[in-house]
Amino acid sequence: MTGLVYKSTGSWYTVKTEDNQVFECRIKGKFRMQGIKSTNPIAVGDVVDFELDESSDAVTGSIHNIHDRKNYIVRKSVNLSKQTHIIASNIDVVFLLITINNPPTTTSFIDRFLVTAEAYGIEAVLVFNKIDTFDEAMKDEQLYLQYIYSEIGYKILKVSAIEKKGLDELKQMMIGNVSMFSGHSGVGKSTLVNALEPNLNLKTKNISEQSKQGQHTTTFAEMYDLSFDAKIIDTPGIKGFGIVDMEPSEVSGYFPEFFKLQDECKFNNCLHKEEPHCAVKKALEENKIAWSRYNSYLKILEGDDEHYRQDVFND
Ligand code: GDP
Ligand code: ZN
Repeated sequence: MTGLVYKSTGSWYTVKTEDNQVFECRIKGKFRMQGIKSTNPIAVGDVVDFELDESSDAVTGSIHNIHDRKNYIVRKSVNLSKQTHIIASNIDVVFLLITINNPPTTTSFIDRFLVTAEAYGIEAVLVFNKIDTFDEAMKDEQLYLQYIYSEIGYKILKVSAIEKKGLDELKQMMIGNVSMFSGHSGVGKSTLVNALEPNLNLKTKNISEQSKQGQHTTTFAEMYDLSFDAKIIDTPGIKGFGIVDMEPSEVSGYFPEFFKLQDECKFNNCLHKEEPHCAVKKALEENKIAWSRYNSYLKILEGDDEHYRQDVFND
């Protein structure tokens, strides 16, 4: 049988088949880890093959194979061993919730997030929330950001989770997909998910409050079916979108508007800093690339890793 992993508690995995049968499964015998070395061989979002156990009730099974992942997000442990933990896999779209000033979302945070999404190979959509609170200045700021990011090719939504505005468009993007919601604490993730699906009580809130006491309590991601043929992955206590290690030469590949130009740079290993005849710098001077994007790029290149780490996290 084949199914999708909805939940993992370390040794047991909740697997749902296409016809909505649910089984609790373990890993059987010698299991081939896929791709990377991680502390968990199977993660929420994985598609697995399993056999039912021979017991009478047959609600348990053994996983013997995992299908190729289209993508996955990871967390690295903070200790020296830097072990990798796969938070979730096969994510179709991640929605980054942005508020203009309550709390403020900086372009450097947005850009780091987008770079991470590009590196993971996950589509990111920017969702401006709390539009019901916007005054003229905030509207201008939102329009400006919308202009920058839509020019690059990112999809933009404007919603009010409280007033339930803009939700239909958001639902359209979620239908048939596995989604994640990300963003600073207080941007309205819980409110938005509740507005989309009133009876779904995600743990996000409770557990992140608990984890203030014990930062390293282990919590697990979980997938939920919504009533409108959409799935979401909740990552309680995991705080966010994980982190990707990257070499300086890779970074501009994750800025789509830089990537388009880099063949025109004189040097094929151009970092778009001080090099002569740099197409990215030229576009910047002609205002075809936003300075805020370029500044974010430089910050990421500087590799202020700790800063990066904190920023990419949600809370
Ligand atoms: P989370 O930490 O991202 O899950 O944020 P919450 O959903 O807990 O929301 C934080 C605060 O923002 C709460 O007081 C919400 O009532 C408020 N909030 C969320 N969405 C909106 C919105 O669209 N408009 C307004 N005015 N407030 C909102
Ligand atoms: Zn260049």
